[in-house]
Amino acid sequence: MKFFSEKAEKKKGGVEPAVDGVLLEPSRENFTVSSFLEVIADVGDEEDLYFFQNKAAEKMSLKLAEYVREFSGKESVGLFISFLNFFLERENLGSVNYVKVDLSNKKFVVAIENSAIALALKKKYKKKVCKFYETLLSELFSDLIGVDIKFKEIQCLAEEGQREKICIFEST
Ligand SMILES: [Zn+2]
Repeated sequence: MKFFSEKAEKKKGGVEPAVDGVLLEPSRENFTVSSFLEVIADVGDEEDLYFFQNKAAEKMSLKLAEYVREFSGKESVGLFISFLNFFLERENLGSVNYVKVDLSNKKFVVAIENSAIALALKKKYKKKVCKFYETLLSELFSDLIGVDIKFKEIQCLAEEGQREKICIFEST
């Protein structure tokens, strides 16, 4: 029963618990991402892991740039966030849990739930590991608002003792 994990709360309506009060949920791990990362961790070191994530996020941002341009402009930040959530979910890279927007100061906080990177690396590294999302969010939000901003991860689900399933990224 490793692929499915028990969740000790009863969902309202819809899914019937397998055991009274206990739902079984499939693992949210992205097995493609975790396989790539494990190869890099096996043959390289931590620096290689961050280099790979950074470069992969840069490539992905370039692919998404033409779509992001459609959302530039004040009114479209909400739509862009919906797009971002749709994209992350489609790629099995997690989902947007919440976003705080302060447009006048160009400050953003983005919480990503079930980070594919953290889920892949949390057994090995008990620390902030989600370089991929730092770079991806930095590139996409910079494209969106037309100003260079950088995101930094301030909380990660891979960190020792972390019980929340979210990783939080803050723009600086
Ligand atoms: Zn993280």
